[in-house]
Amino acid sequence: MKYQAVIGLEVHAELSTKSKIYCSCSTSFGAPINTHTCPVCTGMPGALPVLNKQVVHYAAKMGKATGCTVNQLCKADRKNYFYPDLPKAYQISQFDVPICENGEVFFYVDGEKKSCRLERIHFEEDAGKLLHDEIDGTVVDFNRCGVPLIEMVTKPDLHSSAEAKEFLEMIKTTLSYLDICDCKMEEGSIRCDVNVSIRPEGSEELGTRVEMKNINTFSGAVRAIDYEIARQIEVVENGGEIQQETRRWDDVKLKNTVMRTKEDAQDYRYFPDPDLIAVEISDEWMRQIESEIPELPISRYERYLNEYGMTAMEARLISDSFAKAELLDAAARQVKPKAAANWILSDISKYLNDKGVELPDTKLTADKLVDLVKLIEAGTISGNAGKKVLPSMFETDETVEAIVGRMGLKQVSDEGAILAIVQDVIAKNEKAVADFKAGKNVTGFLVGQCMKASKGQGNPQIINKLIAQELAKL
Ligand code: ADP
Ligand code: MG
Ligand code: ZN
Repeated sequence: MKYQAVIGLEVHAELSTKSKIYCSCSTSFGAPINTHTCPVCTGMPGALPVLNKQVVHYAAKMGKATGCTVNQLCKADRKNYFYPDLPKAYQISQFDVPICENGEVFFYVDGEKKSCRLERIHFEEDAGKLLHDEIDGTVVDFNRCGVPLIEMVTKPDLHSSAEAKEFLEMIKTTLSYLDICDCKMEEGSIRCDVNVSIRPEGSEELGTRVEMKNINTFSGAVRAIDYEIARQIEVVENGGEIQQETRRWDDVKLKNTVMRTKEDAQDYRYFPDPDLIAVEISDEWMRQIESEIPELPISRYERYLNEYGMTAMEARLISDSFAKAELLDAAARQVKPKAAANWILSDISKYLNDKGVELPDTKLTADKLVDLVKLIEAGTISGNAGKKVLPSMFETDETVEAIVGRMGLKQVSDEGAILAIVQDVIAKNEKAVADFKAGKNVTGFLVGQCMKASKGQGNPQIINKLIAQELAKL
């Protein structure tokens, strides 16, 4: 029998607020353990939470960017469970009225446009971290307690690990465009739970699902999904039945094992947090949030393909980075998009990679890129000289013209000056002249000599033309 896989994801993203969701402790990563804590985030009796407004702002922004309805009146609920990384023994989350509902995320898989609906986005607090140490045993670090998260829950719309990966990539790119999450995968800033079931191909009914929690890389999610699909098919093919359960994915051993049978919502004894009041987002605040949403990655990607004539790979490389996309679009208002894109895809990306810096932390601007492209188009500098100018464009406030001048890279296009060089080179290279008379092609060699004589500044087109002219006279 043929099967179709059905996948739903619950994606957690840490919001990049300075302070935690219900107290003023710092959210910064990597501090000595239990130094970013206070009575609120460690759940001391009597301590009272106060909601961080920025969390609401960021969550609603993500909702708007993913086509959700934002519930301008929502509330916080307690989700009760016991685990050593949760000192209050409940997590403040949202239950029946999440901040955002009914969205849809679009993405491409092998050139085909797909979408996945979002059931909801809610905000909640992160839990602490258990650190397992061979000598000290297990230590609990509460620094992460109360770090704000949004959880994005999809409908079971995905049907392969490739679709899941592209969906996750699009969520990540969107978070970075909105500047609401640092997206540092290695610091656990984005984690997901994957839910997998299978059904006979053509069937509309959902099969029993298995959940794997807390996967912190997208490639890990792909491996976990592929493994689980294969495992379920094998169970069913052997006459077995899938149990609804939570399984732990081991990304080293590349297999999963049963953790627990599935808990129900009622096991969490959700109820409204009596220490917090309802959250209200005014119309004016909503307008502010909407005004901060830039053109989104998929729209830029499509525009780069259709309007700028870029390849899928080029369009993806630039639209994946908000800073590069902004640079391209600003430059494209003044020069050919392709010319600007080529610089961004090649030398600009290489510089950023080599130096390990981000574009906004450098001094490169769209205006400088425009100047560079124009100087090359006008023949004032060669493309090669452009490459030499680039580092200073990142590092100094000088204009491109000033850098060109300082480095002596201005191309000589004055025909009189070049003619003198060409005649001199021909006079000094008797062997080349003899070769030429014997029917050999010596143009390449002579151009090289002239470039050398002009310290690389002679305009190659003019040199070529004048060499042909002078050789013809021989
Ligand atoms: P819970 O809150 O108990 O984790 P939900 O019903 O909210 O359960 O679903 C959580 C996730 O599981 C959602 O992303 C949803 O799309 C996905 N899901 C639900 N049923 C299935 C199924 N049969 N197969 C695959 N995924 C599923
Ligand atoms: Mg779940
Ligand atoms: Zn605190």
